[in-house]
Amino acid sequence: MPQPIPGLPVPEPCISFWQQTTRSFPHLNINRDEPVPTESAYVVIGSGISGALTTYELIEGGVPAEDITIIEAREAASGASSRNAGHVRPDAFRGFQVYRQLHGVDQALKIIANERTVLNKVHEFVEKHGVQCDFNPTTTFDVCLTQEFADFNAESFKQYEAAGGDVSHIKFYDGEEAWRVTRVGKAISAYEWPAGSSHPAKLAQWLLTQSVKKGVRLFTHCPVTSVAKSASSTASQTYWDLSTPRGITKASTVIHCTNAFAPYLLPHLSSFITPNRAQAHAFVPPAPLNSSNILPSTMSLRHTLKHFYSVAQRRPDGIIILGAPIANPVISPEAAASRLLPDDSFINEEVKEDAIRNFEECFPACEKAKLLHGEGLLHAWTGIVGMTADSVPFVGKIKSLPGQWICAGFNGHGMARIFTSAPGVAKLILGGSWADTGLPECFEITEERLERLQKGVTESVF
Ligand SMILES: Cc1cc2nc3c(=O)[nH]c(=O)nc-3n(C[C@H](O)[C@H](O)[C@H](O)COP(=O)(O)OP(=O)(O)OC[C@H]3O[C@@H](n4cnc5c(N)ncnc54)[C@H](O)[C@@H]3O)c2cc1C
Repeated sequence: MPQPIPGLPVPEPCISFWQQTTRSFPHLNINRDEPVPTESAYVVIGSGISGALTTYELIEGGVPAEDITIIEAREAASGASSRNAGHVRPDAFRGFQVYRQLHGVDQALKIIANERTVLNKVHEFVEKHGVQCDFNPTTTFDVCLTQEFADFNAESFKQYEAAGGDVSHIKFYDGEEAWRVTRVGKAISAYEWPAGSSHPAKLAQWLLTQSVKKGVRLFTHCPVTSVAKSASSTASQTYWDLSTPRGITKASTVIHCTNAFAPYLLPHLSSFITPNRAQAHAFVPPAPLNSSNILPSTMSLRHTLKHFYSVAQRRPDGIIILGAPIANPVISPEAAASRLLPDDSFINEEVKEDAIRNFEECFPACEKAKLLHGEGLLHAWTGIVGMTADSVPFVGKIKSLPGQWICAGFNGHGMARIFTSAPGVAKLILGGSWADTGLPECFEITEERLERLQKGVTESVF
């Protein structure tokens, strides 16, 4: 049995619903016993959606596929990308207040606009390429379950609109109307805007398959344990030696797509990217929520900014995916403390009970006593998200390490960010400017940003 290495993904994680339903993926364990190549011009570390899409975009940009190697610590795409709650859910305005404080009005507007762009890009991409990832373009509700959160959201909306943010696609429902549209009897108010859901593992696997077909070499179950300057570096060209249990690969371009685990190989980021456990659950619905009664929209059931649950009902099988952060303030401090363990091999029972209880309260037809045998909780799993000190990802060139790049730190929100961030880092690697990426400037990993964070500017939106 492989021994865990502190700071790296645990070698024997639990299996998510998405992984359970894709065990036949042919590249799941590809090259698991093969030595890594001694040289590769480009090495992408991590095979989640970030690593898979960066690779895809590099090839689209003209890099020969045979020049790229992806090295993955576990099964292909076995990190957060195959463990999330399936939501491609842009923030439409809620985070504006916090982003504004952290990054200023202009950047806060760009952060929100970027998420809408991501939804459109995912939608266009899966349609254009016929990606079979159960993508469901729909709308989503922010369901305000407390007056405190209704007031917070109203203030965010007001500030966002006043700053010039586009609210033309957002609908607001109050009181009885909010219950009617969301079917949540406890709703005080609700906001609705376009969003989507997908089978995230199928999306990541599709991307990896395209690259492998073209000649990319993917090595699974092969953690990169260090990246050190190669002795063969010259004054004009730096090479990096990537050590793994199956050999050393020398590369001139290294792209860290390791999300929560980025600090292991980039220790200077350890104060700025923190791994957090998150949990999701699959629920088989009873008759009031199946067949023609399926929930047409996804939702976030929100008590406070940090106490919330996501709900997305899948079209192909009606299974409801319930997401829950382990940082949830209503669970015991002992259970909450487990969120800091970067270990996705076990679930938190208290979080599971709480997520189901909250769902039953919002949808009383799902109370345990009313369910048939076979309905109700099907599965629960955990995954590790990478929280950053300023709530936005790190994208771009790591100036202190020439030839190394990063696309990581998605704050449990990568499905709404990676489809612009990964193409963005690929553009930069291919010689583009930051402006070419179209990303908010605050996503860039600059020395100034790291210095500012070092001084302690932190707040979480999630
Ligand atoms: C329970 C849960 C629910 C979530 N729900 C949502 C949601 O509904 N919507 C949303 O937008 N986001 C959600 N997220 C977050 C989302 O899944 C992530 O933001 C996204 O998947 C990050 O993708 P990634 O490719 O950057 O990282 P990952 O998918 O984590 O990929 C990183 C990969 O790097 C590998 N790796 C790490 N270190 C090394 C190393 N040294 N050597 C080799 N390989 C290494 C890992 O094994 C992993 O496969 C959720 C996450 C969880 C866990």
